[in-house]
Amino acid sequence: MHLVLAGAGHAHLEVLRHFGQQQARRNAEAPRLTLVAPDAITVYSGAVPGVVAGLLRPGAAEIPLAPLLARAGAEWIEDQVTGLDAGRRLVLLGRNPPLPYDLLSLNTGARPVTPPGSVPVRPWRGFFAALAALDPAAGRVAVIGAGVAGVELALALARRPGPHPLLLEAAPELLPGLPASFRAHAERALRLAGVSWRTAFPVERLDEGMLHSLEAGMGQVALAIACAGALPGLDLRTSGLACDAAGFPRVDEALCSVSHREVFGAGDGVAAGLPKAGVWAVRAGPVLAGNLSRALRGEPPRPWTPQRQALMLLGTGRAEAIGLWRGISFEGAWAWRWKRWLDDRFVQRYAGAGGGWL
Ligand SMILES: Cc1cc2nc3c(=O)[nH]c(=O)nc-3n(C[C@H](O)[C@H](O)[C@H](O)COP(=O)(O)OP(=O)(O)OC[C@H]3O[C@@H](n4cnc5c(N)ncnc54)[C@H](O)[C@@H]3O)c2cc1C
Repeated sequence: MHLVLAGAGHAHLEVLRHFGQQQARRNAEAPRLTLVAPDAITVYSGAVPGVVAGLLRPGAAEIPLAPLLARAGAEWIEDQVTGLDAGRRLVLLGRNPPLPYDLLSLNTGARPVTPPGSVPVRPWRGFFAALAALDPAAGRVAVIGAGVAGVELALALARRPGPHPLLLEAAPELLPGLPASFRAHAERALRLAGVSWRTAFPVERLDEGMLHSLEAGMGQVALAIACAGALPGLDLRTSGLACDAAGFPRVDEALCSVSHREVFGAGDGVAAGLPKAGVWAVRAGPVLAGNLSRALRGEPPRPWTPQRQALMLLGTGRAEAIGLWRGISFEGAWAWRWKRWLDDRFVQRYAGAGGGWL
């Protein structure tokens, strides 16, 4: 059996770890395993703002894939998945011939809606390169999208040399959909950090650094980072797999494609009826690993009942964090230490020492 893993997302880190343990136990179940991923490292987003703010060491968010691959006895194809022929069980690749599979797992995440002229926050490589190349004297940085990730990124960017960043949100308020008490904590942190913001400002495009919305130009920025919305990392609408309208493959409660039982998927890149946030991609990891193992043994997959609520912790860039748990908002240095403990635990589980992009 040939199991192909498309994308080195959070859930696939656990799948690689799981098959590494199988190898160590010399378990006969260990399949031929191939990971298709464009980079030799993968990034844990929760730690990115801390690195951007200079609170965490460079590389603290990066997880090298080589040790995980070696332990799992897996092959790495350094490439981008460009499509899928689900009928013929072929993964289509950017630079390599089509890759046949018996079992396929998708964990390619999502990317933000990126107005022309802006830089998407992911793929991370381009974001890190743009940030490293940024001359602090060149002007302000704008963050497009004031969801949790956008607010946290703007707060982190405020700690870097150069003018204070600008945060732009299409909705009438920051942190759309989140409780007012949480928003109040965030607004205070933004004010303290010197971040200014504009709401009801849907950025359309940038012309030579000039921001344009529906109404008018909004001034010049040196760099605009797109951090809102979710488009599939891999659009599979023409693959034959059942997808939702946006192109995310639809999976059931066992993380199995609703149209092709030999295809599984987890994280932001699939339509599973879950919020698109890292916490659910992480939680899906052991379920996905277990169900891929079951599929290899010819057993039916087991359904998963994910938690509906998750702890939210947003770093303020000042070794403090704002949190939300079951509708209750809080803030403090202790919350930052809690976030660091959770993030470190995740990265250490898969990484040990980090990589070196930023
Ligand atoms: C700044 C920031 C901070 C965040 N902080 C948090 C947080 O604290 N907590 C939280 O819950 N969520 C957070 N998020 C959201 C979180 O990053 C995502 O929800 C999470 O990464 C989704 O995980 P995933 O495994 O689905 O995909 P990803 O982590 O995006 O991984 C997908 C992988 O697939 C690769 N890939 C993509 N397309 C292809 C392709 N065609 N072929 C091959 N490989 C491909 C990518 O390079 C990537 O390595 C944050 C997001 C941002 C932007």
